[in-house]
Amino acid sequence: MRPTHALIDLQAISDNFRCAQAAAPLSKNFAVIKADAYGHGLLPVAQTLASAGANGFAVACLEEALVLREAGIQLPILLLEGFFEAAELPIIAQQQLQIVLHSPWQVAQLLDSQLPTPIAVWLKLDTGMGRLGFRPEQFKQAWQQLQTAPTRARPIRLMTHLACADERNNPMTQRQVTTFQQQIQHISCETSIANSAGILGWPESHAHWNRPGIMLYGAAPFNDDLPAVQGLTAAMSLSSRIISIKQCQAGDTLGYGATWACPQTMPVAAVSIGYGDGYPRHAPPATPVWLNKQRVKLVGRVSMDMITLDLRECPDAQVGDKVELWGQHIPVDEIARLSGTIGYELLTGVTKRVPRYYQ
Ligand SMILES: *Cc1c(COP(=O)(O)O)cnc(C)c1O
Repeated sequence: MRPTHALIDLQAISDNFRCAQAAAPLSKNFAVIKADAYGHGLLPVAQTLASAGANGFAVACLEEALVLREAGIQLPILLLEGFFEAAELPIIAQQQLQIVLHSPWQVAQLLDSQLPTPIAVWLKLDTGMGRLGFRPEQFKQAWQQLQTAPTRARPIRLMTHLACADERNNPMTQRQVTTFQQQIQHISCETSIANSAGILGWPESHAHWNRPGIMLYGAAPFNDDLPAVQGLTAAMSLSSRIISIKQCQAGDTLGYGATWACPQTMPVAAVSIGYGDGYPRHAPPATPVWLNKQRVKLVGRVSMDMITLDLRECPDAQVGDKVELWGQHIPVDEIARLSGTIGYELLTGVTKRVPRYYQ
């Protein structure tokens, strides 16, 4: 078998969830498990979080929610983009899913529908994200329309989403929270604002329900420090093994484009992982990988199925030695930063070819 895999530490996910609870003890939590639980595997993660005390789950679409219901999960499930077409509404009602309502067309279609039971809705206000949600001038009308439709929408709750909560000094977050509070001041209902960064960094964003995502997986909610600072533990360890070692001569080049030339006689290893597995092709030379209790450096371009390593700092390495690309020793956020992306993209980008194992 190819030695490339992602080991998922379910205990770390439970512990990280408890960090979310501890940071906002008065809030309930929709654990966000969209995109296959950020690449960690939808069902094992959902079952772990249900045992850890999640009050509900948030996913991106009906397809993801149905996998949870079919597995017997009965907790509340929130569809973060609501529905995409009216045909989904009877299934949503029957499966007792909750929906975000972000646009006038959704309110109109919901009001037009025939449903066996009302659907629990979260009317979304756009307080600055600019992506989904009602602008302040549209919101009152949507709220009033829904009030008149108790057979289709009940209960009605309110939410918004933060655009810059990962930047600790950005005044945008406080402005968004204030805008939200002003809009809802004469309304009494449950609310939800905070993502992971809101939970850990912005207590004023805590509400009846929070929506932790990335922190559950032990990656960084903030742009300025690594997750260990928050007491979070990496849940995914992506690893493979050395499949070849050779002595190269000064001037020998490595990989596609022959972009990296050996400055001296040196040992070079090939490891069986590449961008076809979700390791970023843009990882530059000197990106760290963990080998035999130390960091060594990537050299040459990342290929689809392989990378090459400079073994000068670890000359005793052998074929078969394990290499961690990210996980306990190398934070995924460090690889992301070097590759010009974020931990979220790397975690969700681990491809189907990489088996997930659970511990
Ligand atoms: C993905 C998502 C979250 C979770 O965000 P994290 O930064 O991963 O904690 C919360 N709310 C909404 C609306 C989302 O789309």
